[in-house]
Amino acid sequence: MFNPIETLIRSVTDIDADPYSLGDFLGVDSRWCQRCGNNAILTAVQKLCAEEQLAPEKTVFVSGIGCSSRLPHYMGTYGFHALHGRALPVAEGIKIRRPDLHVFVTTGDGDCCSIGAGHWLHAIRYNMNITVLLHDNQIYGLTKNQVSPTSPRGLVSNTSPHGASLDPLNPLAATLGMSNISFVAQAVDWVPSVLYDVIEQAFHHRGLSFVCIMQRCPNYLPDHFEEYIKNPDRLVLLTHARGLQVEESIARRFKHREEHDPADLDRARELSMPRDRIPLGILYRNPEVLCYEDVRSGVEHLSVAERMAALEREFDKFTVDAASPQG
Ligand code: SF4
Repeated sequence: MFNPIETLIRSVTDIDADPYSLGDFLGVDSRWCQRCGNNAILTAVQKLCAEEQLAPEKTVFVSGIGCSSRLPHYMGTYGFHALHGRALPVAEGIKIRRPDLHVFVTTGDGDCCSIGAGHWLHAIRYNMNITVLLHDNQIYGLTKNQVSPTSPRGLVSNTSPHGASLDPLNPLAATLGMSNISFVAQAVDWVPSVLYDVIEQAFHHRGLSFVCIMQRCPNYLPDHFEEYIKNPDRLVLLTHARGLQVEESIARRFKHREEHDPADLDRARELSMPRDRIPLGILYRNPEVLCYEDVRSGVEHLSVAERMAALEREFDKFTVDAASPQG
């Protein structure tokens, strides 16, 4: 668990050579249901932090509201449990002021694709160097069983007793249709090796990496992904020299594989459309897309006094003058 005293000692002594272990990234005990797919995602990101030797005090997980958004509590890093749908703008604010931090966002299908949809669209466009994990369980779990934007048509829930009446929003296809996309991938929580590899590639991408993770909610949708879990033929593994490269022992578990060049946006869009098989791997990657933090002029050159004066000028714009006409 992140220990500020130990961090201070590390910063003033010469013991940085001590590597971080998995235990350094454990937060409080998870309150998720047993067999919840969120646990697999948590394990993957904790392993990533340890493997990449990310300093806990230089790493921050930002979330909105929902079951998946409890993840920052379970990490031994800094975290920010933001308002519903607001994880992305909070993460962007952190990144713009502290580009030295490793910033991750964990968000659910309701959090990202419903109340946070506007922020999702613009965060993709701004393409800041953030790793975004969409935990897509296709249901609202925290508020106890309501349809989400990604719930399948016909799903019976507390808010759709006669079955959901609309076709679901497709987060992959929607993201691949936005401006300035730079990294789009998909994984499932029940294939942990591929899940880890995809998150690792997303972390190393410079720009906003968007990873859609199909995540089981055994509490409210116990059989929902069973057809894919019991029949791996319903998955297709995307590999490529510029995309995912997995060990042969893993790859041979997939009957269906495709050499997909992540530079091929047209094919990525085809793969994202509803089909018999779920694509796993990196659908699209373009490292040339401009990052907002690279083109926005910062305030680092300003003195503290100049920054305070600039803040005061901004606050003064909201001064209520008694002599002003009242609207
Ligand atoms: Fe996981 Fe569903 Fe339980 Fe939430 S309600 S913790 S998503 S199994």
